[in-house]
Amino acid sequence: MRLCTHVNAANATAENGHVSHDGSGAHAGERAEWGPLGADHSFALCLTHDVDRPYKTYQSLYYAVKHRDPDQFRDWWRGENPYWQFEHVMQLEDELGVRSSFNILNEQRLLRDKPIREWFSIDNWKLYAGRYSLDDPAIVDVIHDLDAGGWEIALHGSYDSYDDRERLRHEKETLERVVGHPITGGRQHYLNLNVPRTWKHHRAIGLQYDTTLGSNDSYGFQYGYGPYRPFDDAFVVFPLTVMEFTLPNVCTDPEGAWRELERLLEEARDHHAVMTALWHPRYFSDEHANYADLYYRLVERALEMDAWVGPPGELYASLDHPPDAAAQPAGLRQRRHA
Ligand SMILES: [Zn+2]
Repeated sequence: MRLCTHVNAANATAENGHVSHDGSGAHAGERAEWGPLGADHSFALCLTHDVDRPYKTYQSLYYAVKHRDPDQFRDWWRGENPYWQFEHVMQLEDELGVRSSFNILNEQRLLRDKPIREWFSIDNWKLYAGRYSLDDPAIVDVIHDLDAGGWEIALHGSYDSYDDRERLRHEKETLERVVGHPITGGRQHYLNLNVPRTWKHHRAIGLQYDTTLGSNDSYGFQYGYGPYRPFDDAFVVFPLTVMEFTLPNVCTDPEGAWRELERLLEEARDHHAVMTALWHPRYFSDEHANYADLYYRLVERALEMDAWVGPPGELYASLDHPPDAAAQPAGLRQRRHA
């Protein structure tokens, strides 16, 4: 795959976190080749869910005040958890006969793990309030249920971990202890990414694929149609094609949003692409109208179009990988990266 010298998506803003690049990215345009499964399918659709906030406690209070909405107080008062959508997603995907990956976040605790000077930042309160814990029995149970049911458990690297190898290693090992087997890939929280440093961290701690390369405010194939190998070895990047909240006017004009998704599916088919979709579990709740329906239609239509549909880890396992670059003579490695 060719590389382009400019990476124009990712669209970093202060709110969206850190995205920085030092010059490499996949080039869109060619028909993608992605291994043996590609011979049997028109394109691939990888399904992913970033588990950010499965509990709404903090958000209920925040939005009740912000929007003066008593319904939000009621959710909080009754202890209801509209963002706890694991079973709903599992049921939808069971109906469709597909599986997906759940990227699990293992954040630090603001008051216990972060230095005191960081306690007084409003941004930090927004970032850390509402976190969940891998000690939470309900979270542990649902991770086991997903894993036993054929869903992929993957890593959602915490906010600063894109540039903190030891933090990311700790998060991966903690999640592996919960799930009981190795984790092969995932995505960074807020799509925080330094290219290629973050991927070097991933590779060094034993992750085999990443799905962070994408945009917080646009969708499409700006990072290419196929899996991308930044180091010409077995480490693979599956660019993120579409995240649900970047779609236009989903609440007021779901048919318009659907046409955009259908257009992406057709583009994926025309280029034999690997398309990756991210739907956060909370967008399956009733308060985010139409997002669950759009997800269902996306998967249903992809299957009708003869796509392979599943979690990225499963697609990764099906690929033919090049020999380990580290095992090659140094001269050859240098030529490959020239
Ligand atoms: Zn996230």
